[in-house]
Amino acid sequence: MNLPQSDFFNVVYRHPNLLFHHDHIRAATDIEAGEMVLIEVPVLKLRATVSSNSSLVIDAQEFAAAWNLLSPDKQAAFRRLQLNNNFTSGVSNQEIDRWYSNCLAYLQGQLYAVPIVGCRFQQSCRPNIRSELVKIGQNNSWFEFRTLCRITQGTLLRMSYDVDGILHPAQSRQNRLLARKGVSCECESCSFPTRSDPKRGRAMGVLETEHPAISEIGAALQALHDEGVYHFDGSLYYDAYLEYHSNGDRSNGLLCYKHCLRIAERDGVPPPAELQ
Ligand SMILES: [Zn+2]
Repeated sequence: MNLPQSDFFNVVYRHPNLLFHHDHIRAATDIEAGEMVLIEVPVLKLRATVSSNSSLVIDAQEFAAAWNLLSPDKQAAFRRLQLNNNFTSGVSNQEIDRWYSNCLAYLQGQLYAVPIVGCRFQQSCRPNIRSELVKIGQNNSWFEFRTLCRITQGTLLRMSYDVDGILHPAQSRQNRLLARKGVSCECESCSFPTRSDPKRGRAMGVLETEHPAISEIGAALQALHDEGVYHFDGSLYYDAYLEYHSNGDRSNGLLCYKHCLRIAERDGVPPPAELQ
């Protein structure tokens, strides 16, 4: 393990078969879909607004106040974080740049925070893990990171730092990630956009439709699967379940509902309601 033990201070759980390095995390053995790989309480929870070019804006005084509350060892661990692509926000404060470069949405569109270990997961638009914020009591919460698919030995663990934009065309994804975090994504879908963009567009179109036809849902699921995006498969299977149910097709409906149950278990969320 290359990451100093002192960087794990806020980690509640870590998968025993992960290799933690300064700028990436790798699977030491095969890891199944739906396994928890990391639970971590983030630091420097701050209010941020999103500007018109998708970059985040925080108040320097609020940052300074939060920074001063951090213990010296936490400050030292934070300073060991990478500045993605030498990102600079233009405020001439390296700690603030580091914060922008490594933060995750805490309360979407309002609060952002930094999981010191979890932000070592590499950016990809074909993520094999996802992060979720879990509330534990009134004032506390943590990030849970789970595998979205089976991960083979030696593979990098990858997540999307912009799930909201993950189905956008490659150019738009790149612009958003660069503006916000200074990241140039080098995933396969960003490298071959002519193959990838139409599939993502197709899936996004179906996800935005209120009552998509079964054939469209099937095509969207196929497109997502081809693209290595799993975040929306549960809602698509549920749409298909609703559609089959309203058509009186019980056996196909049940098949889709079983997928919903499997995905809920994978994602660690409550299963959707079964229709009567
Ligand atoms: Zn990408």
